[in-house]
Amino acid sequence: MTEPKLVMVKRYECPTCSYRRSAKKSVADHMARCWENPANKACRTCRHFQPSVFGPPIDGPSVEERCGRGLLFELSEITGNQKLHTDCELWEPNQDQESDQS
Ligand SMILES: [Zn+2]
Repeated sequence: MTEPKLVMVKRYECPTCSYRRSAKKSVADHMARCWENPANKACRTCRHFQPSVFGPPIDGPSVEERCGRGLLFELSEITGNQKLHTDCELWEPNQDQESDQS
């Protein structure tokens, strides 16, 4: 044998982020909690969401992700990261999605 063998691998991908898995169910489960999926009414697709802002790299202030409507984010006990909201009653589509729909 002199040539490498070509192998094609099937993957399923979340249509709103780059999450990929070989099992379709894994991606379907992910899509139900994906923060980039507008159907989940999560913070990152909401017009009230304020992304984190990092100050100068040495000792400047940094601001974490925030809700412009004043909802507070809990911290995950596992990762220590902020837990964004899903299925939020204050959720409204952000500007980008509104222009996509027109
Ligand atoms: Zn996703």
